[in-house]
Amino acid sequence: MRILISNDDGIYSPGLRALAEVALDFGEVRVVAPDVEQSSMSHAITSSRPLWHRHTPMPGLDAYRVNGTPADCVALGMFLWKDVDLVLSGINLGYNLGNATWHSGTVAAAKQAALLGTRAIAFSAASASVNFAGLRPWVRRTLEEVLKEKHLPLLNVNVPENPQGTCWTRQSFRHYDGKVVPAKDPYGSDIYWFTVIPIEDVEDGSDRWAVRKGHISITPLRLDLTDDAVLEKARTHLGCTSNGLKPSAQRTEPK
Ligand code: MN
Repeated sequence: MRILISNDDGIYSPGLRALAEVALDFGEVRVVAPDVEQSSMSHAITSSRPLWHRHTPMPGLDAYRVNGTPADCVALGMFLWKDVDLVLSGINLGYNLGNATWHSGTVAAAKQAALLGTRAIAFSAASASVNFAGLRPWVRRTLEEVLKEKHLPLLNVNVPENPQGTCWTRQSFRHYDGKVVPAKDPYGSDIYWFTVIPIEDVEDGSDRWAVRKGHISITPLRLDLTDDAVLEKARTHLGCTSNGLKPSAQRTEPK
């Protein structure tokens, strides 16, 4: 099995090394990751300048750094290394839970692979200060569990410190933890930090709920963002203005 590893924290992240070393037990591994940190870049692609890749010495790993985003790295990695079977992204230095999934470069790297037709898993840990050596057996166990199943194309996995077990979850969405905080720079000018506020209430069965209970959260994601309930109502109440055009009401996911 050919396994491509990427992330959004940059190629020198300890989380990436931990993930790549676990992946070596599952197949042939290549690292293609951003040359600098690209956290919160989401699914940005570089379309206005060329990309390059450089072989990067990393003990025991075949690694390349790219002057681009996480999505660029996966697209370029899969272009240069044919027949990739699996893309793993992370381990991110911080959770990607709930609405943070929208901002995450870690999840976007996995999503890029799914768009290209290859199964992918994003891994995130609680923070930069976790003991990655201690998480490795849990990452290995999670991979063993999910890789047995062929119908799990895109997964978002969040691993707490000292996990108590594994839980399949849905993405928490009711609460948004992004917040703009104003401040002053040393010259007295207004500046703003985009930061995260802690969320008190979490939905049962959600990704936030699972990690709060000390469990590894595994959330299956899909590429179709359509709100089916709203679409159904709109079609019923508003109709379709195109004569003779009869849209299918069914979601058609790729197999
Ligand atoms: Mn990151």
